[in-house]
Amino acid sequence: MIQQIDKDVINTLKERLKEIFGYSQFRGDQEIIIQNILNKKNTFVIMPTGAGKSLCYQLPAIVTDGMAIVISPLIALMKNQVDQLNAFGINAQFLNSTLTKSEINRVKRDALDGSLKLLYIAPESLTKEENLDFLQKTKLSFVAIDEAHCISEWGHDFRPEYRRIHGIIDNIGDLPIIALTATATPKVQQDIRKNLQMEEAETFKSSFNRKNLYYEIRPKRDAKKQLIRYVRNNKGKSGIVYCLSRKTVEEIAQLLSVNDIKALPYHAGLDSNTRMANQDAFLNEEADVIVATIAFGMGIDKPDVRFVIHYDVPKSLEGYYQETGRAGRDGLEGNCLMFYSYEDIQKLEKFNKDKSVTERDNARHLLNEMVAYANLGVCRRRQLLSYFGEYLDEDCGFCDNCVKSTEKLKVQDEVVMALRAVKLSGERFDGDHIADLLTATENQYVRSYEHDKLDVYGKGLEYNESRDFWVSMLRQFVILNYLEKDIENYGVLKLGEKGESYINDPYPVTVYKDHNYEEEEIKVEDDDAAGGASGGSAHAYDEALLGMLKALRKKVAKEKNLPPYVIFQDPSLEEMATTYPTTQQEMAQINGVGMGKVQKFGRQFLETINRYVEENDIETAKDVVIKSMVNKSKIKIYIIQQVDRKVDLEEIAEVKGLNMEDLIEEIEHICYSGTKLNLDYYINQIMDRDRQKDIYDYFMNAETDNIAVAMEEFAHDDISEEELRLMRIKFLSELAN
Ligand code: ADP
Ligand code: ZN
Repeated sequence: MIQQIDKDVINTLKERLKEIFGYSQFRGDQEIIIQNILNKKNTFVIMPTGAGKSLCYQLPAIVTDGMAIVISPLIALMKNQVDQLNAFGINAQFLNSTLTKSEINRVKRDALDGSLKLLYIAPESLTKEENLDFLQKTKLSFVAIDEAHCISEWGHDFRPEYRRIHGIIDNIGDLPIIALTATATPKVQQDIRKNLQMEEAETFKSSFNRKNLYYEIRPKRDAKKQLIRYVRNNKGKSGIVYCLSRKTVEEIAQLLSVNDIKALPYHAGLDSNTRMANQDAFLNEEADVIVATIAFGMGIDKPDVRFVIHYDVPKSLEGYYQETGRAGRDGLEGNCLMFYSYEDIQKLEKFNKDKSVTERDNARHLLNEMVAYANLGVCRRRQLLSYFGEYLDEDCGFCDNCVKSTEKLKVQDEVVMALRAVKLSGERFDGDHIADLLTATENQYVRSYEHDKLDVYGKGLEYNESRDFWVSMLRQFVILNYLEKDIENYGVLKLGEKGESYINDPYPVTVYKDHNYEEEEIKVEDDDAAGGASGGSAHAYDEALLGMLKALRKKVAKEKNLPPYVIFQDPSLEEMATTYPTTQQEMAQINGVGMGKVQKFGRQFLETINRYVEENDIETAKDVVIKSMVNKSKIKIYIIQQVDRKVDLEEIAEVKGLNMEDLIEEIEHICYSGTKLNLDYYINQIMDRDRQKDIYDYFMNAETDNIAVAMEEFAHDDISEEELRLMRIKFLSELAN
């Protein structure tokens, strides 16, 4: 039944990407993932929300013979994806309980005659006898299992039906599987592989680092006032406010509304019509803010959510990471704010009272991680990544702990002491036990294991008498990778390679004091420019035209009954307002716009741009404009490719007949429109590290990224404008893009 894949298909993947989806580049591992599944190999993809998982099964489904089955847990998620694919001109449909008889028949007809490329199906529907029969008659390419972590009891979102998937697939035929998830601690990963019987599958894990998200936690005091101020300062932007209970959702939605903010509630207690209407209003930008329980959001693929606020503390870091992950999916601004209070934790603990012992233990572990995350003074991003089994070797510079710099201290003997305690006790205990050991605190095991006979017993007290201090230290040593967590046994600490060598050759290590939210002041002046590294006002685009295009998008979206971003996404509109495409061919060159979209939605946009170009005399000699515009975007693509290949800038400039200044200006445009460029290879040649660091630090702390201001600052340092501009590009690429 399965056809051999043509080599040409694989060779032309990139062209198909452009043609169908309008993207000129694969993101991260997308291309090899797609090749892997096209080669009929089981594939396991772990990618954070927003990284582009869907494309990993959509593109291969489209370019290969037959139909792909996509198993997905939520109906809202399916509808959203199917709408988006249809907008690209792809035949994708879903099969679930919301369809009428005749709709079901149409889906089946398209599936049987081979025109359907992707069939989305819920696990409950998959198990139905009649659906099984019909699937056996269709020509299938592969099975994609989205949100695969639902298989695992160890995760935070277990769904029993997911456990049956493997057996059913076996019944349909011998099909390759691609499993995808955005949240998987090492333990959950293991579970997914075992359950789908794909232990041999190649795993593609991309970094969980969402560089454009700014993480921040504030004490939950005067939280309502803080919330209103925050949302007001972000007026007109889309945002989600998560609350724990339906009651709070209602209350906060009302509070925002009476304060002139367009906000709507969303929770499972609303009747389904209201719920859908509120969700649509948010997607269609009739409401700016949705106030919701966590029932909201799975499958909400709105790329331009600018802030996610946790008004109440979430139950787990998995949940927190997934919910904050809904901000800034287009790679632009995304602010994540959480209000923290220990009372919230106590409330959550109460909810767990009626659970079974294992469930309760599990929930408590998850909560403890949450408490630690809130309290530790060390870089939030390093903490989050460490939780998901990833190690970041420096502070990110783009979270509240980095920006507001919590109090630091240098330790060395303390590290040695803690590592030795872990080692001497046999690398079989958790942080709490080690802290007890170091501070000679009574617990039922210290004596029974004779840990009171170890030479480190009680020795921690000579450095710091507080047990909490040691608990915090041990956690930080894990984040800094001197200690590692055991995958099999929850919480157990071990020495890694780094820890072993540290004991023999120690050096001072910087750690941070924990927060004390009771005493911490609330600073609000930076509400509207969190982090301050968003590139300032240096837009490359024409604001007036952008405004018109956005208004048009809203109108078209309404007519077609689709969310606006399905038409064109923000970065695409910004690019249009930069390069003024006036023909279909030019418009198809815009990132995120393929010919399919141009034909579907392009007409009115082209009319608007043409009219605008004419009315504003952008350039009267039309032919010249078109030529130069086309060249311009071609030059950009050329530069991006050459920089990828690490070609010297002088050489790029020479080939294109540009001087250095013009080339840098082009690069700045590229960078400001959101594409990340890595110029390190070049910068390292022309500047030494110290010089780079000085300028980098300057931008980190400066009020503005204006070059004239920077020139003044470095007036006595013999630093050229070129160097400053290159470093600004580096800085923005690393932090803002
Ligand atoms: P995930 O499922 O991993 O959360 P999505 O598949 O929804 O993420 O993709 C997130 C966003 O990234 C979408 O808006 C999508 O259009 C965009 N995207 C995906 N792949 C690419 C690419 N190669 N180039 C540009 N944008 C992409
Ligand atoms: Zn940080």
